[in-house]
Amino acid sequence: MLKIVLLGAPGTGKGTQSEKLVAAYGVPQISTGDLLRQAVAEKTELGLQAKAAMDAGELVSDGIVVGMIRERLNEPDTADGFILDGFPRSLAQARALDELLQELGRPLDRVVHLHVDDEEIVKRLMARGRADDTEQTIRNRLQVFQEQTRPLAEHYREQHLLAKVSGIGDIDAIYARVVAAIAGEVSV
Ligand code: AMP
Repeated sequence: MLKIVLLGAPGTGKGTQSEKLVAAYGVPQISTGDLLRQAVAEKTELGLQAKAAMDAGELVSDGIVVGMIRERLNEPDTADGFILDGFPRSLAQARALDELLQELGRPLDRVVHLHVDDEEIVKRLMARGRADDTEQTIRNRLQVFQEQTRPLAEHYREQHLLAKVSGIGDIDAIYARVVAAIAGEVSV
């Protein structure tokens, strides 16, 4: 059983660390960014609604992403746990997730906050070169993160779930910190 949220600005390595956790713990990674990109590629109604916000580096509406997460968490492969990557991203989403997990009787074990400073993030994302990775969009996503996602850290700190981990350095060294945080050896 592993039920966690990986919190962190874009470019902090959430995706990379998720992959390693998936391999080690055998639970699925759930990324709203991936689910949205899939919807955009398939040109579904939802994808068409989400595309403009994604291209601008703005948040897609809470209703859309919460609906996607609700559906995904009702699929049987999440019975033993999940790694949420890129969700929640606003207090409203965090509260919706709290309610949903309470309904399902599967509360979070831990929220791991991967932290990397902004200039390093811009460098990393410019190198990644995804379609929505222009410098302006990256700076906008960081701004959105500061304003909307930062309050989440406080929300989870109050619930005694938060562990802050430095996302700087070697991938395996960061992973060791993440695993220690999950085990409860790190707290803030
Ligand atoms: P990501 O792959 O997590 O960087 O997400 C890419 C884009 O998808 C973001 O810039 C947002 O436009 C959108 N997105 C992903 N997850 C969320 C979320 N939880 N809430 C709102 N928008 C999201």
